[in-house]
Amino acid sequence: MTTIETRLLPRAGAPTARHEHSWATESRHPTSAGHVLYVRCTACGTRRVDLQGHGEQPPAPLSRAVGGGVEVRATS
Ligand SMILES: [Zn+2]
Repeated sequence: MTTIETRLLPRAGAPTARHEHSWATESRHPTSAGHVLYVRCTACGTRRVDLQGHGEQPPAPLSRAVGGGVEVRATS
């Protein structure tokens, strides 16, 4: 049984990268809260974990973007 936390990062304090990431889904896994998506930026290789809820909701980030040589840190 897979249990995940559905904490969402605050939008206002979201770190910004030097470019708009172009996320490609590497894998997706069904959970009770929706699909967990492991995505990677096709431009810089940064990875992130998203949660796509049920229905037509857009994916929401579960993790910070990591890797790809883009160091990001929330300031709030
Ligand atoms: Zn990128």
